[in-house]
Amino acid sequence: VTVACARECLVEARLVAPASAITAVAAGRPEGLLLARVRRVVPPGAPAALPLRATGPGARLVGAAAPGRLVARLEVRTRDAAGPAGGIDRAVAIGPDRPWPHRAGRSVRGRAVVALLPPRPAPLLVVGAVHGDEPGTAAALHAALRRTPAARLRAAVVTVMNPDGLAAGRRHNARGVDLNRNFPARDWGGPRALFPGRAPASEPETRAVMRLVSALRPRRVVALHAPLGVVLGRRTDRLARTLARTTGLPVRASVGYPTPGSLATWARERGAGTVTLEIRGGPPSPRLVRALTALLGTAPAA
Ligand SMILES: [Zn+2]
Repeated sequence: VTVACARECLVEARLVAPASAITAVAAGRPEGLLLARVRRVVPPGAPAALPLRATGPGARLVGAAAPGRLVARLEVRTRDAAGPAGGIDRAVAIGPDRPWPHRAGRSVRGRAVVALLPPRPAPLLVVGAVHGDEPGTAAALHAALRRTPAARLRAAVVTVMNPDGLAAGRRHNARGVDLNRNFPARDWGGPRALFPGRAPASEPETRAVMRLVSALRPRRVVALHAPLGVVLGRRTDRLARTLARTTGLPVRASVGYPTPGSLATWARERGAGTVTLEIRGGPPSPRLVRALTALLGTAPAA
């Protein structure tokens, strides 16, 4: 930032990124993100060049962002002995305006658990392949993402939560834990929990999704499973009804057996309404892909 002052003045400059899914994850919370700042006294006379110093998580974001058109605000305030002496408020290009892959964590075997983040706030988080033997959930999400124009993406999408299980074609993660029983919901564990892990959130894949929920605070979470062919949710819930209509699957209140420590229960306890979409087995149908494309491109009502 270059500033000239007629009298000795105090200059404060900040570079602030707007609230978006990307800044929320970078900062670990959904507010806008301070990227860089400087505060300095400038003597009168010739223009002074002030170095903006990157701060905290903002520095990591700037370092990782590919050039693009995500717009940050440059705010400069100048004061001298007479009071406010001027200011600048302008847009600065710093990073991507496209969906941005973010490594939310790593699996037990070291595979990346990747979330695709939209540039804007993400009111919806969609998670596939929670169970590794349900590859159709990941295939359906990949197909829907290919059909979703980048500018229309409204959801954060984890196509594969359980990459080790998917690679092995097994339900559980590499330590034999059912990730959909490992979330630290109040009902975690107990005699009816099958393979819940040695403790709540003991598995790195679980913690990766938890970090995303904490940062993004999505209003809604949709978890994909297979092969029951039902929408698990409340019949009064608009999102459940919409998914039932677009997929042609019936709404059911319960899967019929206990699922303690599930992603859906944990997210609900955190205030995010959840719908579990149990697709049918086999390759995803064109109708399912169309339904998911519509879901990813539409901000859900609260
Ligand atoms: Zn499942």
